[in-house]
Amino acid sequence: MIRITELALPLDHTDADLRKAIVARLKINDADLLDFTVFKRSYDARKKGSEIKFVYIIDLQARNVDKLLERFVSDPHIRPAPDTSYHPVAKAPEGLSERPIVIGFGPCGLFAALTLAQMGFRPIVLERGKEVRQRTKDTWALWRNKTLSPESNVQFGEGGAGLFSDGKLYSQIKDPKFYGRKVMQEFVRAGAPEEILFVSKPHIGTFRLTGVVSTMREEIRALGGEVRFQSRVTDLLIDNGRMQGVVLDNGEELRSQHVVLALGHSSRDTFRLLHRRGVHIEAKPFAVGFRIEHPQSLIDSARLGKYAGHPALGAADYKLVYHARNGRAVYSFCMCPGGTVVAATSEPNRVVTNGMSQYSRNERNANAGIVVGISPEQDFPGGPLAGVEFQEQLESKAFELGGRDYCAPGQLVGDFIKGVPSSAFGDVEPSYKPGVKLGDLAESLPPYVIEAIREALPEFGKQIRGFDRDDAVLTGIETRTSSPVRITRDNHSLQSLNTIGLYPAGEGAGYAGGILSAGVDGIKVAEAVALDMVARAENA
Ligand code: FAD
Repeated sequence: MIRITELALPLDHTDADLRKAIVARLKINDADLLDFTVFKRSYDARKKGSEIKFVYIIDLQARNVDKLLERFVSDPHIRPAPDTSYHPVAKAPEGLSERPIVIGFGPCGLFAALTLAQMGFRPIVLERGKEVRQRTKDTWALWRNKTLSPESNVQFGEGGAGLFSDGKLYSQIKDPKFYGRKVMQEFVRAGAPEEILFVSKPHIGTFRLTGVVSTMREEIRALGGEVRFQSRVTDLLIDNGRMQGVVLDNGEELRSQHVVLALGHSSRDTFRLLHRRGVHIEAKPFAVGFRIEHPQSLIDSARLGKYAGHPALGAADYKLVYHARNGRAVYSFCMCPGGTVVAATSEPNRVVTNGMSQYSRNERNANAGIVVGISPEQDFPGGPLAGVEFQEQLESKAFELGGRDYCAPGQLVGDFIKGVPSSAFGDVEPSYKPGVKLGDLAESLPPYVIEAIREALPEFGKQIRGFDRDDAVLTGIETRTSSPVRITRDNHSLQSLNTIGLYPAGEGAGYAGGILSAGVDGIKVAEAVALDMVARAENA
């Protein structure tokens, strides 16, 4: 197999043009090109005014591969294609009675369980929330009727926090073993659009993700695994520093010496449980801020110029960073083109925002978190759970400022910069449901955060004209950008530093940030569990 990189074609090319370009690049006859797949397709719109082209990475089969590679030996863009396929690391021994437990069925728990099931280990998944359909109803009840279900919402339930999301499936993690490829391939097998395998910034959107997740759950069951919903883990059975099992909220005990802890960043009661049980856990940095909304057309024209609205490019995104004079980094987070801002609390009397979209990304507004990095040393000293407490205080304050009914506090960008409360919307209509209560956001976050964002917005306006327009809307508050704790694990065995058999994983443990990286971490941890179970079975 050969890989060609940096193959550029105009946006409006046909499939036949692509084939012709490959044949021309290799200087071969059409009949000698046996097969090809697009490994990646990207475009670069950073140079203003220049033509936007698609840039391809192509994997192909051709006649006389060795000769071809020899001919292009000094060409860095024609190389042998790497093997990106997934090879299981273990197989469950015959008659193995122990079953690994996976706590949490977000992307991390899902991929940990699927990988274990595919290797024959018959995992038991315990998920505090409900299955996807019921969860969707409960989540909409908050957005439409201001009724929160603390165990079934944007954070908790089948699919985890990533279910109601933009479904962005890219990450900057190092992935030398191509686990990310397995995540994508499994998603496609379960019904995601094939293009996620090759577009440079793939996304899947909320609606499609729900179907994909339930298909994968059925595969885990078909392979002998168990997936239990409304099964919250309320205690850990630890004997002499070794995991022995877990206790559920109905009092049931389940025994296993291998427990994957894929909690996500919002399971605050479970973080407290871990601390009480003496599992090693430490505070870690995260970020807080607001969601900002603009018309998507503004972002499209700033980013794509004359190509704005081109069907092959879709809704444009952005990524912004600014270093404020008070030493704080301000950056855009989880940008959702053509999406909506959502109420993302899992706890009564708290308000927190996030963003989501459908696959089509055709809502009127673009939204993103504009957040400021904070750290335990500087901003919330006081022990492993100080970040959790800090989030709770801020989210309770936001609930008050929003009018105590799950509406979110908001302010127009122009007023926020000037430091005056807002009283009426301009042309930008906020999308957050159940609603935005205008006022003064200065009270909602610490002064150093407000100061840094105030300084950053006009600077962002220099990069994207109109970003700091007066009637852009800020909705508060964004606090759950990543986990406030790290449940530290040993780098080699992937087990907790002080609890053998406990495998902290994914976003809640501080080892992932996003759907793709959480899925990748789930695979890694599943492999570590499988190898340990095989080794123990052999030594028994
Ligand atoms: P989670 O997905 O949080 O899953 C943890 C699961 O564990 C939950 O289902 C929870 O109910 C369960 N659980 C917790 N405690 C217990 C317990 N004691 N017993 C049993 N079960 C328990 N990321 C992207 O990459 N792209 C995006 O576009 C994107 N958009 C997002 C939009 C929104 C609205 C939100 C909230 C997040 C978004 N994210 C996005 C972030 C992404 O969802 C997370 O990074 C990812 O879901 C983390 O995966 P995880 O499996 O580690 O944790």
